[in-house]
Amino acid sequence: MSANPGAGVTTLKGVGPGLEEKLARLGVHRLLDLLLHLPLRYQDRSRVVSLSSLVPEQEGLVQGQIVDARLAYGRRRSLVVTLEDQTGYLKLRFFYFSRAQQNALKAGMYVQAFGQVRLSREGLEMIHPEYRTHRDAPPPPEPELTPVYPTTRGLGQGRLRTLTEQLLGMDWPEDDGTPYSDLRWLHRPPAQATAEDIADVQARIALDELTAYYLVMRHRQSDRTGHRTLALPQAEHLGRELLKHLGFRLTGAQRRVTTEVLEDLSREVPMLRLVQGDVGSGKTVIAAFAAIRAAEHGAQTALMAPTEILAEQHYLNFTGWLEPLGISVVLLTGSQSAAERRRVSEAIESGEALVAVGTHALFQNSVAFRQLALTVVDEQHRFGVHQRMALKDKGRLPHQLVMTATPIPRTLTMALYADMDVSTLDELPAGRQPITTTTVADERREEVIAHLAGELAAGRQAYWVCPLIEASEALEAASVEETLPVLESALPGMSVGVLHGRMKSDEKARVMAEFKAGRIQLLLATTVVEVGVDVPNATLMVIENPERMGLAQLHQLRGRVGRGAHASYCVLLYATPLSETGRRRLSVIRDSQDGFRIAEEDLQIRGPGDLLGTRQTGEQQFRIADLRTHAHLMPEVIRRGDALLSSDPETANRLLAIWAPADSGHAGV
Ligand code: ADP
Ligand code: MG
Repeated sequence: MSANPGAGVTTLKGVGPGLEEKLARLGVHRLLDLLLHLPLRYQDRSRVVSLSSLVPEQEGLVQGQIVDARLAYGRRRSLVVTLEDQTGYLKLRFFYFSRAQQNALKAGMYVQAFGQVRLSREGLEMIHPEYRTHRDAPPPPEPELTPVYPTTRGLGQGRLRTLTEQLLGMDWPEDDGTPYSDLRWLHRPPAQATAEDIADVQARIALDELTAYYLVMRHRQSDRTGHRTLALPQAEHLGRELLKHLGFRLTGAQRRVTTEVLEDLSREVPMLRLVQGDVGSGKTVIAAFAAIRAAEHGAQTALMAPTEILAEQHYLNFTGWLEPLGISVVLLTGSQSAAERRRVSEAIESGEALVAVGTHALFQNSVAFRQLALTVVDEQHRFGVHQRMALKDKGRLPHQLVMTATPIPRTLTMALYADMDVSTLDELPAGRQPITTTTVADERREEVIAHLAGELAAGRQAYWVCPLIEASEALEAASVEETLPVLESALPGMSVGVLHGRMKSDEKARVMAEFKAGRIQLLLATTVVEVGVDVPNATLMVIENPERMGLAQLHQLRGRVGRGAHASYCVLLYATPLSETGRRRLSVIRDSQDGFRIAEEDLQIRGPGDLLGTRQTGEQQFRIADLRTHAHLMPEVIRRGDALLSSDPETANRLLAIWAPADSGHAGV
């Protein structure tokens, strides 16, 4: 049967509305999408491993005859089936089994099973393997590697294998530019294919996918530069006024980046600029200068923060900086009363408020601005790469400033942010205290508490961060709930505040304000304090279970201290035993305070999901490309993408139609 790549998945046998909906969750709508839905990894079921050669942790296909099957009553009841082949024995263990399974797994039957071998007190075992029983010797194994697909709830591997089997039985077009033969090969590589063979084919396809992504970004860029918006050239000298009462001198980098931003604003072409700068490099004030420029024209600015805590903090800063210049600033948060929000919305609608600060979510509920000229998105990495801000003003695109403290390696920026201009703040304000970072094993917690008591007694403040809010059976990690009584009893006379994501926002804001005012000495928190929080008197950051966190996240957390005139410390209180990778990762944080270097390492060790914020948003960024393994393709992606744009638009459009059908019309921005 010949395949129509653009046909819907319901044209396949056995795909009804239910399955269609599940496939859609995986981004699979067309037959082509299913063909592009490639295995995450493979299992080798092509050869039978003899029982005597099995080693712990090995994954493999085994077969043998059942010599014994019985119920075992240990801590939990289980069904234990012993297999024998010519070389030895293996136990299969089932904690969950039906009566029918128990009846089928009888002495004398043959079993072919696939699973991972573990070492238990009773020797080698496979727990809950996939298996099939046979009356006679089992058939020969499959000649190909078995794919393991990315999947979603309610959709099993078996289902995905039968569906892709149907695709592989079809005739695909020959010459429409899609690498059908590579794609088909990746669904069922021959058993003798090596990991390198597979990686090579994947890289060829990843190059196409990344090129398509780059083309989308370039199209968005040219769409944007085709728009016209309100030009904001210098009108008054309010920026100079701010410089006078700022209380510090701008760093060279801040001056340079501010100039870049103000130059963009003075044009009719809508700005789209990413400002990246390490934690504490002073990005906020750059946004203030931009907002002042808009205000000089009587035009409005919307500043969006990822959390209420951060919105509140920006509001305080902006009020202090801008109100003396006669620019009215308002705050819009979910914890305000309806009446308060209405009052604020009215001030925005009438144009009386020139700067509105709030959380991202609030701006999505379409606040009507009188004349919105500029949007600022802080800590953009939280929102994912694809999801650009699209607050439009009566159909007109405002200037956009995006700020992030997550340094993105240059190779990635050039391709992934090809639609934006990028400024880098590569200098910290003078007089910043270096932060001494130490790694300490959990068993030495007493010493850490003693250090903490010393800092607090000296009038300083501290953070103590736990991964969990309350104790969990599933996860062995520190929780706020369990840690609170321990710290409270160890620190008599000190006020300990608690901050976590399950608290109401007004409660969070109250705790944060108390901490900022110095009425709370120790803030026991989850990673909600990760971004942007600025309390210069805090000098100690203790992080529990740092081995569970990403390096970029640890760097962010550490950046909460070292913001004032006092020496600061970060203690990574890890659980033992620490794996070799864990040790390596923590030593990267301990030995470096350079966000860019840490980001590069994170990319190597963990992959870019966290780096680019895709994990937080649950957004799957690429189907095949993995930026960790394919980052080196970027120069080629850019070269090829540029060449296609200038001399082969037909191929460019074909790539877009395959990989980004929604963007191939490239109408939106
Ligand atoms: P980030 O880049 O992490 O968003 P902030 O804008 O929050 O950094 O700035 C961190 C702190 O440094 C703030 O208290 C801010 O007022 C202060 N700051 C910013 N620029 C300077 C500077 N040039 N000199 C001294 N302090 C500065
Ligand atoms: Mg910030």
